[in-house]
Amino acid sequence: MAYSYEAPVSQSLFDRASVVTPGGVNSPVRAFRAVGGTPRFMVSGTGPYLTDADGREYVDLVCSWGPMILGHSHPEVVAAVQEAVARGTSFGTPGEGEVALAEEIVARIEPVEQVRLVSSGTEATMSAIRLARGFTGRAKVVKFAGCYHGHVDALLAAAGSGLATFGLPDTPGVTGATAGDTVVLPYNDLDAVRAAFAAHPGEIACVITEASPGNMGVVPPADGFNAGLKELCAADGALYISDEVMTGFRTSKAGWYGVDGVRPDLMTFGKVMGGGFPAAAFGGRGDVMAHLAPAGPVYQAGTLSGNPVATAAGLAQLRLLDDAAYAKVDAVSAELRALVGDALTKEGVAHTVSAASNMFSVFFTDGPLRNYEDAKRQDVFRFTAFFHSMLAQGVYLPPSAFESWFVSTAHDERAVERVAAALPAAARAAAEATA
Ligand code: PLP
Repeated sequence: MAYSYEAPVSQSLFDRASVVTPGGVNSPVRAFRAVGGTPRFMVSGTGPYLTDADGREYVDLVCSWGPMILGHSHPEVVAAVQEAVARGTSFGTPGEGEVALAEEIVARIEPVEQVRLVSSGTEATMSAIRLARGFTGRAKVVKFAGCYHGHVDALLAAAGSGLATFGLPDTPGVTGATAGDTVVLPYNDLDAVRAAFAAHPGEIACVITEASPGNMGVVPPADGFNAGLKELCAADGALYISDEVMTGFRTSKAGWYGVDGVRPDLMTFGKVMGGGFPAAAFGGRGDVMAHLAPAGPVYQAGTLSGNPVATAAGLAQLRLLDDAAYAKVDAVSAELRALVGDALTKEGVAHTVSAASNMFSVFFTDGPLRNYEDAKRQDVFRFTAFFHSMLAQGVYLPPSAFESWFVSTAHDERAVERVAAALPAAARAAAEATA
């Protein structure tokens, strides 16, 4: 399909970018490789809308992959940032903003007794894994196929979802030695986890899981799955790490912990807590966090960790996220899910709208979906047609069938109506698509 000429300014920017940046982007999924066509270069965002370099406005259902839960350019967040910038952008010393953000996180998420601020979700999971290994004196890490925890070497092993399979590196550059301590298991399969602990007693440092996965599309944990993980970890002396980089401060005031109440030993956060800036964190049990330098021997550091502008943005955003804000995001999500489901049903397109609180995905296959293998069954070519029809009608969806859609408090009636108006043609395009 030829989409290149729909966005001439974006195309020329992409051409320039492709000369100086591998693939023309600074994070792969932005490149539209999965759906084809020209990635849109955005120049501004206001509320639920993005405007691209060609001057076209889109209803944004990506929200920067989760962070923009108040919509773009929220006036109070912008004011907090401007005020912080005016005082200086980085000091390389402790500052009050990072104390206040840490206090806000600890106050919201009961299992987090102490927290360390970092700059990206990847750093958070990488550091949490190192801490778990340092604390337990064990090497092995269990992760689940289809769960993404950032581009940490040891966690890019997602191949071989068989029982207690040792992961093979998924990408050149990750050595067998790095990935060799990673055990990759099928998601939502407690028997596989039981078998892994039986095969490696006393060797597993931690089990890391997305609190509710969004990176194979939204595939929530089955009833009792997270609780089962916690129990199996506790029985063996391994740590249970809940990766809430995507779900944290989004799926409820206390993230997914606020939904399922299963108490992790360590948790990781990012996205929403940075208010659109690079701020992330990991935290949890006080006795475990006490092993972190300078209190303890496990080293971890960052020049820009706790950056005053990022912490000001994050704090301003979190303070605006009260019960009413979550009720609003949940309601918009429910409305959009119903609209998409109805439109696809009307056109006879096999689909499953899968939700975890206000995060949701539309899979182009019948359910139920319990793991990555199920997610991969979908008719991706139908998503591609659906995506491009929505894009052409001014709705910006994640350019991949394996991602969560995100909404914000700023998605008002007008924005929802614009999505609703685009859906019939997009559903028809999906129905008529051929592989
Ligand atoms: N963990 C989860 C669950 C994520 O969804 C992501 C990013 O999408 C990460 C970790 C990595 O975060 P970052 O992209 O900030 O490094």
